[in-house]
Amino acid sequence: MNWQQRIEQALREQQQQNAYRQRQVHYGVNGRHVALNGRCYLNFSSNDYLGLSQHQAVIAAWQRGAERYGVGSGGSAHVSGFSAAHQQLEQQLADWLGYPRALLFISGYAANQAVLAALMRNGDAILADRLSHASLQEAAHLSPAQLRRFQHNRPEKLAALLQKKCLGQQLVITEGVFSMDGDTAPLVELQALAQQHAAWLLVDDAHGIGSYGDRGRGSCWQQNVKPEILVITFGKAFGVSGAAVLCSDFLAEYLLQFARHLIYSTAMPPAQACAVQAALHCIQQGDHLRQQLQSHIRQFRTGAAQLALPLADSESAIQPLLVGDNQQALQLAECLRTHGIWATAIRPPTVPLGSARLRLTLSATHQAQDIERLLEVLDVATR
Ligand SMILES: *Cc1c(COP(=O)(O)O)cnc(C)c1O
Repeated sequence: MNWQQRIEQALREQQQQNAYRQRQVHYGVNGRHVALNGRCYLNFSSNDYLGLSQHQAVIAAWQRGAERYGVGSGGSAHVSGFSAAHQQLEQQLADWLGYPRALLFISGYAANQAVLAALMRNGDAILADRLSHASLQEAAHLSPAQLRRFQHNRPEKLAALLQKKCLGQQLVITEGVFSMDGDTAPLVELQALAQQHAAWLLVDDAHGIGSYGDRGRGSCWQQNVKPEILVITFGKAFGVSGAAVLCSDFLAEYLLQFARHLIYSTAMPPAQACAVQAALHCIQQGDHLRQQLQSHIRQFRTGAAQLALPLADSESAIQPLLVGDNQQALQLAECLRTHGIWATAIRPPTVPLGSARLRLTLSATHQAQDIERLLEVLDVATR
């Protein structure tokens, strides 16, 4: 097969499996609404859980940051891209979450790649929850370590893997709140098991940070667990973009030497670090936003249970409706659209085969009447 045939075949297969992905151009979006195709939809597909992407204080901080520092960082953090705004943000994150150090990354994807690439060696094992994010799974595949996956949220399966012989070091990986299922990892059990075997624990709390725990400190704080490596991202509840790795002093120093995604990549713009600082402040003061979100989650789950909708076991802002078949998931999303509701059908390989779903996400910026409307439409659409 030549290049053209290879690519055409892959595209054809993607279409045949109803797995073809397309982007949609929007003309304005926030946690509550999205304007697309000349129409305004209620938005139930955003990760902007607290609505901070539109928060005046965050926008103003970005603007002031741009005026002070310009729009770009001008280089990698090791060369000339590390500003006072970056340093302050790292310190604020470390203090907030009770870690000696925080290191900024341009994205959660890069952070996960960087950490695994820098840490893992031949003979090591990565023991990962089966539903861990693609960025973790891919990093694990690319690393010289062996990837062993355990059944989702089943510590006893991890225990069995930990019994297996491993010549090197073992790293246990999980998400805090799972991105496509919305359920929470049993972090206490996972950490205890890791400790028994002198393994380290990495928790990717992309969907937990900001939305849960005292002052928004996320899943780990909520469960009183302190993993050796905590990855947080700023593209979800923070409403911005970027990520940080929280860890010990000596691991931070190690990553500064060996994390190639830091060394060979332009640092995030300082103005963005200013915006993330402002978002962090909103999160720390954001009990009212988290209460609002919790109230929407309760309202949705109560209503959905009354309608006997196929709810997943999730107490978080991520409320998937399990459909199964790709085509049916797409049809359901389409039907919602005709009723003015935007929600995305999530299909394999993002989720396991045969578990296509409508991934609904709730935001503090929704109003009770929006949830009510969502339930009405779902009632009609699933008949
Ligand atoms: C979104 C997400 C990432 C990637 O973060 P980006 O900053 O968007 O690259 C990593 N892990 C999990 C669990 C995520 O949901």
